[in-house]
Amino acid sequence: MSDSENKIKCNTHGTTDSTFLCRHLLEGEKRGFNLGYDPENPYDLYPDAWCDECEKVLEKEGEWNEKSEKFADIKLLCSGCYEDIRDRNWVQDDEVFHDLVKSSFGFIEPRHQEFLSKYKAGEHERWDWYQETAKLIFSHDGKPQVEADIQFSGTYSTKSNTWMWAWANESLDEKVKSSSRDIKALGEELGLKQLVAGRYPATEVDGWEMTSVLAKHLNAIGVYRTPGDNGFTYMVITKAKWINKSKIARLFGG
Ligand SMILES: [Zn+2]
Ligand SMILES: [Zn+2]
Repeated sequence: MSDSENKIKCNTHGTTDSTFLCRHLLEGEKRGFNLGYDPENPYDLYPDAWCDECEKVLEKEGEWNEKSEKFADIKLLCSGCYEDIRDRNWVQDDEVFHDLVKSSFGFIEPRHQEFLSKYKAGEHERWDWYQETAKLIFSHDGKPQVEADIQFSGTYSTKSNTWMWAWANESLDEKVKSSSRDIKALGEELGLKQLVAGRYPATEVDGWEMTSVLAKHLNAIGVYRTPGDNGFTYMVITKAKWINKSKIARLFGG
């Protein structure tokens, strides 16, 4: 929910989007965090959430009715409080997460080294990406040299120290973020908060971890990030080619 009618003022977090949570989550810890997406807004950053006990009642009743709603006693909260409460209550198998990250790094690391040496990715004068075509172009001497197909994994904000998945970022073109939705689906399957939550406090390394998960999923050949005003845009490279190899030979003396 992002329209101004759905804003809420919180003493801790200021004015933010309003969110709905069952009362048990408010004070609780490790109570489970079940998400209820509005079918019209399946990529809501803050879907309604309730605890495992509420989920049991809901399953028994088969729907939200007087009984299940009374039990949940849904409360209105700010999105900052929602994030804190999600961190406290989400239950997951961290080993599954660590295994996923480890295998994803293991997959992309050697490929990325090869990508760097083959396309001299760190040596070009400039880069430009184009969301409409999902391309990253490396240029040298004012001319495009390497053209890469990209998919954005997400962005890291150095202002708020948060990671935001590309699918959650309304300013990004569908063309360049559609694959990130697969990772959200994978996260729902595995019950992993880091893959399901659209935005959360993180480090730049977390950004690489999430990017490597997308890289493995897409059988990518490399990963990359570009600096912006408030942080970095992370992406995976699924394909690359030299645009004009003979010129390159002269430029790099290769
Ligand atoms: Zn509950
Ligand atoms: Zn708050």
